[in-house]
Amino acid sequence: MNAKVWLVGAGPGDPGLITVKGLSCIRQADALVYDRLVCAELLAEAPVGCELINVGKRADHHPVPQEEINGILIRQAQLGRKVVRLKGGDPYVFGRGGEEAEALALLGIPFEVVPGITSAIGGLAYAGIPVTHRSHASSFHVITGHLQAGKAPLDWATLARLDGTLVFLMGMSQIDTICHSLIRHGMDPQTPAAAVMQASQHAQRMSVGCLTSLPRRVVEDGLRAPALIVIGEVVQLHDLLKFVPTAIQLDATLPQAELA
Ligand code: SAH
Repeated sequence: MNAKVWLVGAGPGDPGLITVKGLSCIRQADALVYDRLVCAELLAEAPVGCELINVGKRADHHPVPQEEINGILIRQAQLGRKVVRLKGGDPYVFGRGGEEAEALALLGIPFEVVPGITSAIGGLAYAGIPVTHRSHASSFHVITGHLQAGKAPLDWATLARLDGTLVFLMGMSQIDTICHSLIRHGMDPQTPAAAVMQASQHAQRMSVGCLTSLPRRVVEDGLRAPALIVIGEVVQLHDLLKFVPTAIQLDATLPQAELA
């Protein structure tokens, strides 16, 4: 029996940013379990007969609970299938890939991780923002903006003192809190800040300002999730370093890894 689960990072959205190994896994999958951040071009690479399972949103628009997703991966593997769990960005950068791997490991189900390009780095690059730069930022910090009631709040005093680039994921509904908390804890209100929506996709759009102005700008510009919020001097480079990405065809002649 060659049942196994591959946790594959799809990259931030441009289908060309999947890894060679990730694409090879998709092309041999018996079952492909995906969510809403994954683009249609990659799903189209699944072989005829592969079962496509959408765990992004249910018909009632509620997200599929994590336990149910874990259960689907387990059941599909127990059917003896090659299961690809395709996740946006990198599987272990938020998005609960670690929990899925734990559920499999605890049952002794073989699995493998195929890392992907996280939106926190690659998505910013597509918006002309280098996450580090020798003259502007010597570290970067990727932070969840999904601030859950009842959970410990973020340590704003520490975050406000960091002089590296701050990247918030899942932060759009909390953008006021994020910008105001950093200012309140001592960060310069004029610190450059931007939001990048659907980075590396055709619909990519961005708002640029500073900590004070960004929350207003995103409303004026109509930016919505999924978006990255990036704070730091590197944001100033966006106009100089923006580029038009080359569209590539996924290459059907790439050698296939023999999945086992
Ligand atoms: N594993 C993913 C992150 C999952 S959390 C990764 O490595 O990129 C989901 C959040 O990621 C979204 O709310 C958004 O903040 C961010 N995100 C993912 N893809 C994005 C994209 N193409 N453009 C902007 N933000 C993105």
